[in-house]
Amino acid sequence: MRPGLNRFLAINCLLAVTVFAFSFAGLTLLFIMGSVDFLPGFETALGHRFWLKLMLALGLAILSAFAISQIQQVWRGELDKAYAAKSRFEAVLEHIVSGVMLIDTKRRVLFLNPAAERLLNLPAGSVVGRDISEIICTDDFAAAITAALQTGELQEVESTLFCPEKKNLRSYISSFVERGSAGGLVIVFHDITELKRLEQMRTEFVASVSHELRTPLTAVRGFTETLLEGAMMDQAKAEHFLKIIADETRRLSALIDDLMDLSRLELKRANLNVGPVDLTHLVTETLVGLKPRLDKAGLVLVVDLPEATAQVSGDRDRLRQVLLNLVDNAIKYTPSGGKITVRVIRLTEKARLEVTDTGRGIPTQELARIFERFYRVDKARTRSQGGTGLGLAIVKHIVELHGGHVGAQSEPGKGTTISVTLPLVKR
Ligand code: ADP
Repeated sequence: MRPGLNRFLAINCLLAVTVFAFSFAGLTLLFIMGSVDFLPGFETALGHRFWLKLMLALGLAILSAFAISQIQQVWRGELDKAYAAKSRFEAVLEHIVSGVMLIDTKRRVLFLNPAAERLLNLPAGSVVGRDISEIICTDDFAAAITAALQTGELQEVESTLFCPEKKNLRSYISSFVERGSAGGLVIVFHDITELKRLEQMRTEFVASVSHELRTPLTAVRGFTETLLEGAMMDQAKAEHFLKIIADETRRLSALIDDLMDLSRLELKRANLNVGPVDLTHLVTETLVGLKPRLDKAGLVLVVDLPEATAQVSGDRDRLRQVLLNLVDNAIKYTPSGGKITVRVIRLTEKARLEVTDTGRGIPTQELARIFERFYRVDKARTRSQGGTGLGLAIVKHIVELHGGHVGAQSEPGKGTTISVTLPLVKR
């Protein structure tokens, strides 16, 4: 049984008991008045019947006052409960993140909560009484409203709004009946713009990964088939093709390693082995091993370190990976005769690691995108240099996991600086 009905029955019972109590008290007194010689010997000028009537009147008045106050208390309690329920309901509608709108059967807006006004970009209180089709005018939405009105069944529909910026809404439309009116529809709106963006990113990522995997695989397949079709009889050709196959296979496994690393970092599952790391020390010990490669590329390395230590809290191996990645890019994209400078700068509460080269640079309009997965400035050329297009995305993730941020500056034809800023350990 519903609680409202219970309360209604309780009030009615109380009323019935009160009426019964009145009648019972009255009848008893009348009975006493008529049959018993009340207060014998108490004869006054007015006679004992007068006192009996007075007592009866007083008794009834007290009983009535008591009953009325009881009824008042119950009703006040009921009203308080109704007000509390109403304000709770209003608070929910006021603060809920989903938009809620009521429309009547003629599709006119009866009510909408602040979230609905925000989602639909409407000034407060501006649309009550207007037709819903003036607010959301997509065909799918109109069809869903018609279906909900005709069938009374729950409808779910997605709409894209473009004003002022693109927004994706998912609406659930269900009918409601109201005592004393024809009822209408309740529409609940959810903003799914972010969800759609992530879906889009995932689709693009899958497309990029497939493309990246297909390129070396096509080469491996093509050269293997050529070898099988007879090229392996030619010693020089066979050697050349097998070298290409080996290179492409290496690229494939580098790509898979980077993909797995990136996925671990993105899922924040890369367990960081955090401890104090002195950046100046890290730079010195990491760059020692790069000397042969720099010599081979005909590049000069300059290291510029501060006098004092620059201690950050982080995973030494991951921070080394960041530095190696940046220096590796500088080597790849700087022609022979160029210079690479690795610098550590102490700032207040932060330390900055910079890798500057005198290479080909990055066009300004592309600078913001180089930290995106698979983004390459010169696609064909960078792929031929063995890049997976994931290096800087991995760098960005590692740095952000350490509470830092990355930056890039470049002048095409003159060179590039990629910087990493990390919080210093507080003393
Ligand atoms: P890749 O493996 O292709 O080097 P990265 O994520 O490391 O991928 O870099 C993304 C792109 O940014 C590169 O393909 C390249 O076009 C550009 N880039 C990165 N570092 C430099 C640099 N030092 N000089 C010029 N271009 C760079």
